[in-house]
Amino acid sequence: ARPNSPEARDISYHLHGYTDARKHEEAGPLVIEKGDGIYVEDLAGNRYIEAMAGLWSVAVGFSEKRLVDAAVRQMSKLPYYHDFGSKSHSPLIDLAEKLVQMAPVPMSKAYFTNSGSEANDTAMKMIWYRSNAIGQPARKKIISRNRGYHGVTIAAASLTGLPNNHTSFDLPIANVLHTATPHHWRDGLPNESEEQFSSRLADDLEKLILAEGPETIAAFFGEPIMGAGGVIVPPAGYWEKIQAVLSKYDILLVADEVICGFGRTGEMFGSQTFGIRPDIMVLSKQISSSYLPISALLINEKMFEPIADESNRIGTFGHGFTGGGHPVAAAVAFENLKLIEERDLVGNACRVGAHMQKRLRSLASHPLVGEVRGVGLIAAVELVGDKANKTPWETAGALGGLVNGFMQQNGVISRNMGDALAFCPPLIITEPQVDEMIDAFERSLEAAAGQVGS
Ligand code: PLP
Repeated sequence: ARPNSPEARDISYHLHGYTDARKHEEAGPLVIEKGDGIYVEDLAGNRYIEAMAGLWSVAVGFSEKRLVDAAVRQMSKLPYYHDFGSKSHSPLIDLAEKLVQMAPVPMSKAYFTNSGSEANDTAMKMIWYRSNAIGQPARKKIISRNRGYHGVTIAAASLTGLPNNHTSFDLPIANVLHTATPHHWRDGLPNESEEQFSSRLADDLEKLILAEGPETIAAFFGEPIMGAGGVIVPPAGYWEKIQAVLSKYDILLVADEVICGFGRTGEMFGSQTFGIRPDIMVLSKQISSSYLPISALLINEKMFEPIADESNRIGTFGHGFTGGGHPVAAAVAFENLKLIEERDLVGNACRVGAHMQKRLRSLASHPLVGEVRGVGLIAAVELVGDKANKTPWETAGALGGLVNGFMQQNGVISRNMGDALAFCPPLIITEPQVDEMIDAFERSLEAAAGQVGS
């Protein structure tokens, strides 16, 4: 990087998470300077399709003036307030009402936090609080899944089921257990149908619950579709069978809708797409299109009742964040949700998503493509070196990284989770723009094929 250039200063002063520091020093950052719809532009003026909507989150695109205006209006009127001790403010009241009304199952209250990780930590504390309040203090264990992603704070990273989030931090904490990833293509036995695979995973879950003692298990956390774990779409019957086990032992269900929520799957919530009936919904990202950080929990009456019940003698729910439900973020989120509804972005995700899925599936016979999976406007292509044996080229993630690099050269910012290349564009994307994105992917795949073959 040129001395004193933004790239050089980034290398000098800025520590990036999830980044190989040495490689970063060599290659320097891609500095993004502006946004325009589904496109972003770097410092040199190169334009890219943002095929990941930032971090799975910018539903309305990168230049929505109505969100800017909502922020400016609220910032000028009341730039900050909080909701501790019965204080409140209009943007939060509007947003709480809207979220409870939007919920696909009866929900009682909304609680506000700043990030997906904080929201999951909060959900865990609410669940522990409830166990104490209802006189079942032994019910503290939480089950989540290998390859699930729930964030990076101590509790949320424990729920997350990816080795990178555990090993160097001595995580998970006590009371967090993990069960199997519902990835039929990878983990199904020969000739095992999706339904049979789902039944086997539900049996595994039941065995784990029985081994630990059902009276010690409080809750199960899961994303409707696993996002950061590689866009793992649950196989047929999976959620129905898992929920049957959870109800049998009176175990709470938390749907982490941080990626799926607000239209991603072609329905308003992933819970609708898969028939999930959660006690808590965790919401973030597309709630505000990430223009400002905000997250929320929706809790049902079963969760709220012990919090409301003074006679439980364990005191008030002692928890809250200074910035939780920030008025400017809340005003932006409310405007964003209105936009999603007014412009029927959920319908767009369904229609244009069907086109994206069809185009990606047309590549299934490519020698480097192992599996194409996805629903609505979220998908992944699992790249393989040896198609018959479903094994990687060279080392795991090498091919994913290679194709991802070609994508950038071809004007698309995508993301590879190992060898799974993900597509999760803004919900405003059009069919011609999907074609532009997938054409670039085809060119990238061919470029990689040239290299792999040589
Ligand atoms: N839950 C899910 C499903 C996520 O995908 C993420 C982030 O990608 C989180 C939680 C954590 O959210 P945050 O990064 O805002 O803490």
